[in-house]
Amino acid sequence: MSYCVNCGVELRESEKSCPLCKLEVVNPINPYSPESIPAYPPNMDYLAVMMNRRLSSIMILILIYMPAAICIVCDFVLNGTLTWSRLVIGASIVLSIFVSPYFLYRKIPVVIPVFIDTFVILAYLYYLEGITPKSGWFWPIAFPVIFVLSFLVGVMSLVFQYTKIATLYISALLMLCCGIMLIVLEITTDYYSHGEIHLGWSAISFIPLILLAGLYVIVERKRSMKSSIKKKLHI
Ligand SMILES: [Zn+2]
Repeated sequence: MSYCVNCGVELRESEKSCPLCKLEVVNPINPYSPESIPAYPPNMDYLAVMMNRRLSSIMILILIYMPAAICIVCDFVLNGTLTWSRLVIGASIVLSIFVSPYFLYRKIPVVIPVFIDTFVILAYLYYLEGITPKSGWFWPIAFPVIFVLSFLVGVMSLVFQYTKIATLYISALLMLCCGIMLIVLEITTDYYSHGEIHLGWSAISFIPLILLAGLYVIVERKRSMKSSIKKKLHI
């Protein structure tokens, strides 16, 4: 019996490389033997995982669409046509598209579901504006706010998926995104209600957020500098 020199996992003769860290097994006393009984079955149990995912997907869809179905029946019985239940149907569609990456789990870039979700939310809000009495809020408020929010979420998701930046840098980026979002909110609401833009509360909130983000960056830079000096000096 041999053990992995890297991670200490127990190895069988049938193993050419460590099952945990994938380090090649080189043991002159107990060499690799392709005829020996394999330690694991040849196929991994993907089927059970797929079945569980399918079952839970059906359960989630039932949970989303069951209230919508009840609303449709109630609305139809009370009003003889579909009135307010159309809002619930729209919200259920949006929600099911939101959770759809879970059903169709593939290794796709996170930015694709973010893009689809943005489109669906905007379409729902546009529809909502069309059927509610108070209109004129979609283009000046809903569109820019959702667009900027989705852009920032897309950037953050790309950073999470493709980079390995330190937690404090992520926190700094999050602070910056929050600051931008507050400014966009004030600009859009100001323009919608008064027709002109005066930055007030968002600018006041933006300054401490930026200072906090800067502080995170400084702390992280100092920490990484410290650790690189320690490595160089072999402390
Ligand atoms: Zn190993």
